[in-house]
Amino acid sequence: STPVATFCALSKAAKSGVLLKGGDHLETLAKVKTAAFDKTGTITTGEFVVTDFKTVSPDLSLKTLLYWVASLESKSSHPMAKALMDYAQLHSIEPHPEAVVEFHNYPGEGICGKLDGQDIYIGNRKIALRAQCITEAETEVSASEGKTSGYIYAGGVLTGWFSLSDAVRSGAAQAVNELKSMKILTMMLTGDSHAAAAQAQNQLKNSIEVVHAELLPEDKARIIKECEGPVAMIGDGVNDAPALATADVGISMGLAGSALATETGNIILMSNDIRKVPEAIKLARRAYNKVI
Ligand code: ADP
Ligand code: MG
Repeated sequence: STPVATFCALSKAAKSGVLLKGGDHLETLAKVKTAAFDKTGTITTGEFVVTDFKTVSPDLSLKTLLYWVASLESKSSHPMAKALMDYAQLHSIEPHPEAVVEFHNYPGEGICGKLDGQDIYIGNRKIALRAQCITEAETEVSASEGKTSGYIYAGGVLTGWFSLSDAVRSGAAQAVNELKSMKILTMMLTGDSHAAAAQAQNQLKNSIEVVHAELLPEDKARIIKECEGPVAMIGDGVNDAPALATADVGISMGLAGSALATETGNIILMSNDIRKVPEAIKLARRAYNKVI
């Protein structure tokens, strides 16, 4: 591409809210064969609503459980954290983030910390291993409804669970269909359950061609490495950083996304509109074809 053509395309993209961190990404974008989307916060809004919150220990009050969850989640930037804190506030529970020690985030799994003298783990079933939990989670009900569910372990015991739901972004189906009409393979990569992935896919009228669920951050990166390239990865979370870095072109959700995703991405979407992805590829194709 000539410097002038590149500059024109970059400024045109910027005007529509797509920031490219360099002209090289334009050429890659023009040749993209696979578009891999993260689910939570990228295809879906990440604006969760808590639909269930239950304690499973008879001697543990819902208030205590909510206090633990709100206090730990107040240290997390995951989209689920805000919904859980709002839910606690609705029940007049004040979180105490300063009382949490040894906080740790496990991307794609959940979080942990010490509070009230207990080791508390919150996350999906993968976190049960870290919590050294021996009790089996018997909460498949919420998962089968396609909601995102979370489990709370304290002192190595399952003490409660919750489920949340969010919706696919408006324009997501259109973005996927446009990419397909451009002969680009569409994929969804998620750390969430198979049921929650199927729920999102259902809302998209099953338009995404390939779906992988229950992935760790490194699984997303491995799948991208195995795809036909160039691959564009579109994501928002800390858990997407390895995939964004592995992809030929990493596209991050600039508005709602994590700072790490924005730092790692080669392209930043300045709006939450994922229709900007096919739009940017079209623009790149036009700019690139004009000068070769
Ligand atoms: P996605 O890949 O779709 O964006 P994530 O990797 O962000 O999903 O999350 C995967 C799963 O990890 C979530 O569905 C949730 O079960 C668990 N998880 C991650 N962070 C947290 C957290 N702060 N609190 C509870 N669960 C979490
Ligand atoms: Mg995400």
